[in-house]
Order: sequence, then C-alpha cells, then structure tokens
Amino acid sequence: MSQPISAEETNNFAKEAMAHMARQDIAPTPDNFMVWYSYVAKKDPDICQRIDWMLQHGRIFDAEECNGLYLRCMTLAASEDGEKRDTALQSASAGVEKSVAEVMAILDEASADAERYTETLTSAGGELASAEAAGAVRKIVSNLVEETKRVADQNRKVNDRLEQSNREIAELNERITDARKEAMCDGLTGLDNRRAFDLALGRAVADSNGGASELSLLILDIDHFKKFNDTHGHLLGDQVIKLVAKCLTDCTKGHDTAARYGGEEFAIILPNTDVEGAVSVAEQICEIVASKRIRRKATGENLGGVTISIGAAQFGGSESPEELIERADTALYAAKNAGRNRVEVALGGPVLRVVANSGGA
Ligand code: GH3
Ligand code: MG
Ligand code: MG
Repeated sequence: MSQPISAEETNNFAKEAMAHMARQDIAPTPDNFMVWYSYVAKKDPDICQRIDWMLQHGRIFDAEECNGLYLRCMTLAASEDGEKRDTALQSASAGVEKSVAEVMAILDEASADAERYTETLTSAGGELASAEAAGAVRKIVSNLVEETKRVADQNRKVNDRLEQSNREIAELNERITDARKEAMCDGLTGLDNRRAFDLALGRAVADSNGGASELSLLILDIDHFKKFNDTHGHLLGDQVIKLVAKCLTDCTKGHDTAARYGGEEFAIILPNTDVEGAVSVAEQICEIVASKRIRRKATGENLGGVTISIGAAQFGGSESPEELIERADTALYAAKNAGRNRVEVALGGPVLRVVANSGGA
C-alpha cells in the first residue's frame, strides 16, 4: 500500500463496492463486501484482474466464485499489508455506518415533521367542520391528511430498512475485527503468530526511541523436539508445544509479547527490560518448562519432560528489528551448542553486565 486514504475516500469505496454487489446480484455478506471493497480500492492486482476478467466475459459471480475471491482476499489480509488493509476496511465500514446514521437522523426528523404536519391539518380540519360553506375545503384538508400519513408511513419503512442495514454494517465490523484477530493468532497455542510478532517488534523498537528505553528479545526453541515427535508422535508433540506456550504466558505479563515464531520456536518481546531482566525471565522459563511432566492423556503414562534453549538480546539502539532477531538467534544457537536447557546472551548491543547461563543440560 502507498498513500493513507481518507475517511471520505474509504466511504466512497464502500458505497461503490455495495453498488457493484447489487448490480452483480451478489449477496451483501461481509465476506463479499471485503472482496468488492478490495476491488474498487484497486489494492490487489490479483483480485482486480480476476474480477475485470469476469465482468468482461459476463461471468456470473456464483457462491463458489465469491468464496474463491474471498479466500484470495484473506490470504492478502494475512500478508504484510494486512494490517493496513484491515484498518482501511474498518474505516470504510465506519464511514458507511456514519452516513447511514446521518440519513437516519434526517429521516427521523422528517418523520416527526410529517407527524406534526398531520396534527396541524387534523386540527384545522376539525375547526373547518363547523363551517357549512367549508365542505370543499374540508375535503382538500382531509386528502392532505391522508397524503401526509402516507408519506410518514413511507418514511418509517425507509427508516426500518436503514436500521437493518446499520445492523448489517455493525456485523461487518465485528467480522472484520474477528478476521483480524484470527490473522494475528496462532491456532494451536493461542499466542500471537509470526505476523503479529513482527508488527509488535516493529512497534517496540520504535517505542524504545533508539534504545532510550530498554528493550529485550528472547528467542526460544524446544530441545531435541524431533526426537520427541519421532518417539511419541506428532499429536503429543503438539501437546508439548501448547504446554511450552502456557509456560511463556504464565511467565510474561503487562506489555510483554509472547509469540509462536515458527514450528517449535517462540519469541518474547520484553519492553522496558534490560538484558539482565530478560535473562532472569528466560531462566525462569527454562526451569518451569524443565519441571513439567508430559502425560499420555488416555493412560496417564509419564513420558518425561522437555527442555528449551533460549537466546537473549537487548536492543542496541541503532540496529533493525531483523538484526536484533539475528543476534538473539545466534545466542540461541550458542545455547544449543553449549549443551541446551540454558540461556545465552547475544554479543553486541548494550554493555553486558551479566553473561548468563542457566546451568546444566
Ligand atoms: P534442537 O534441540 O537442535 O532444536 O533439535 P530439534 O529436534 O528440536 O530441532 P529440529 O529443527 O531438527 O526439529 C524440529 C522439529 O519440530 C521437527 C518438526 O517435526 C517439529 N515440529 C515443528 N512444528 C511442529 C508442530 O507444530 N507440531 C509438532 N508436533 N512438531 C513440530
Ligand atoms: Mg527449531
Ligand atoms: Mg528444537
């Protein structure tokens, strides 16, 4: 994505998307809206190309096609541009919601006016009833009353329809929020996923203001996990990954971010924490993980435990997030080479007052 787009622009995109959907007879679901918003905003060449081709060839957007387009959109939402896209969608639907609310307010007023008008005319009609010569006038007034009632009725119907579309837009907002959460969450452990981690680290580095406030990173990897999987099976392996994730959640708090970085690798971002603090968190995690016992659920059989190795690095102030990750990763491999079940501190970065080692493999 390039330029940030204004609320007005997103509002227009949203309206245009809905108009397209109506023309193509596409169900106005949040999923389809996401696709057509993406099309009119021309954010994704792949979606644009497909839809243009479909339109040029007069193809029908049946449920299968719509679903395919939606999945393409979701893949993009999970890509690096996803957060910006979600923000654009949210602001688009917020824009639509706002304009619907405005129209509803106007209609409310119009409806109240019409009712007042009816009352006025009714009372005028009543007064005229006493005047003999006013027969013709009375008829006109009574016709006007009827007509006014009809208009007020019509307004009420439009109001109902708008209320309904307002509810649909609110649902759309909710779906976008859920999809966004899903795109940021690891399915197995519930921890932040790699994408969420990358975004969080970028933010943390920016917030640390060139290292003015301390920031540390831990990269963690389960030891000899291939062997565990080979011996006990992948399903129990998954159970171990969940167990380690829980230890990470239990040992972190506040502004810390614990994420599943890859298969059996995790990462923890520790804002306002120097390397000594990071090492102490890491050692605690090592100890807790090593103390856990894994049991086969069906039989209760004790399968022993697992250990993890951890690399710790404090943000150097002028390095990129990738360089920080790389230093923590190198420290992790040092921990593996030193015998596993331990913490090693990265070289480089700020002055290291402590070179830690959690001890014995
Ligand atoms: P090391 O101590 O050097 O890290 O050895 P290791 O065996 O843990 O490392 P290696 O990279 O050789 O193997 C990692 C294993 O993790 C292999 C892969 O099958 C397993 N793994 C990765 N993701 C998952 C997952 O989601 N579930 C399960 N059960 N296993 C996974
Ligand atoms: Mg690994
Ligand atoms: Mg491993």
